[in-house]
Amino acid sequence: MPIHAINPAMKAIRLLEPSRPLELQDVPLPRVGPRDVLVRVKAAGICHSDAHYRAGRSPVHPLPLSLGHEVAGIVECVGPEVSQFCPGDRVCLHYLATCDVCAHCQRGNEQFCLAGQMMGKHRDGGYAEFVMMPARSVFALPKEIPFEQGAILMCSSATSLHALYKARLRPGESVAVFGVGGLGLSAIQLAKIFGAADIFAIDIKPEKLSRAKNLGAVPVDAANVNPVEELRRLTNGRGVDVALELIGLPVTMRQAVSCLAIQGRAALVGITEKTFEISPYLEVLNKEAEIIGVSDHLAQELPQLLEWARCGALDLSRAITRTLPLDANAVNAALDELENFEVDARIVIKP
Ligand SMILES: [Zn+2]
Ligand SMILES: [Zn+2]
Repeated sequence: MPIHAINPAMKAIRLLEPSRPLELQDVPLPRVGPRDVLVRVKAAGICHSDAHYRAGRSPVHPLPLSLGHEVAGIVECVGPEVSQFCPGDRVCLHYLATCDVCAHCQRGNEQFCLAGQMMGKHRDGGYAEFVMMPARSVFALPKEIPFEQGAILMCSSATSLHALYKARLRPGESVAVFGVGGLGLSAIQLAKIFGAADIFAIDIKPEKLSRAKNLGAVPVDAANVNPVEELRRLTNGRGVDVALELIGLPVTMRQAVSCLAIQGRAALVGITEKTFEISPYLEVLNKEAEIIGVSDHLAQELPQLLEWARCGALDLSRAITRTLPLDANAVNAALDELENFEVDARIVIKP
């Protein structure tokens, strides 16, 4: 007898209303539709976005809702039309549930799906004992990848990969990575996999810069030097071919554009509602530079990402700092730390 037939309730940490601590609640197990997969959560990453959701800066609906969009676990049961997964399979979840029929989905840009629902923002997420997603959003997690790493692959690493694809990084090109958090550590390793010649990592925290250096990047300490001037010096005046802005500050966005070489591409990933100034002629037109927006990632990019993690080319073992139980106080405290930028890498809930 499947577990959901015996025990129809589960524990979940939920946002009841914005600007209030999350609460642990007993909620009914999701009802598994014909094409759905119910997953027993083994790891759920706590993401900076979750702090924005709790604070109400980024709207979450409908409330109450279980947060958590970085999830790996074990298949508990599947709907009758699902043939590719069985109970017991190790899986990780793409956080978007999409319709597969709208114009955006048909064109392969499913992050803009008109009916798209993000797990942990528009539908119940993985801060829970179980989570349910359509089979289309479920991916096999190779046994070489621990659940915690599978979970964070689904957000920060996937976004970094999508940014490098959007920036069209080619072998032999140079890259500047602005911000060495969870995304940055993945971006540096992925740039290496793409065959980047020189990888520069810009941050203001010495421990982050030394971590970037250990991964083979050239550290640029923006607390002590002007990073644009330093990048020009390090590239003999050329500038960099690709800049990734992973922080979401107007000043670093401006730097990411200013440091570009001729026909360079700046991919903006960090989120801000503020504006930033550039000199159109000198910094864009004259160089045929490009400023590229990056939003989420695509399900089709995940199998390659999982393969790089499986074979060790992408090593996330140092990216996870701490694990927590499914405990509301512990999770709220972790979100407080994220609010105050006190977290170096990732915290993962292990229910
Ligand atoms: Zn995330
Ligand atoms: Zn769609």
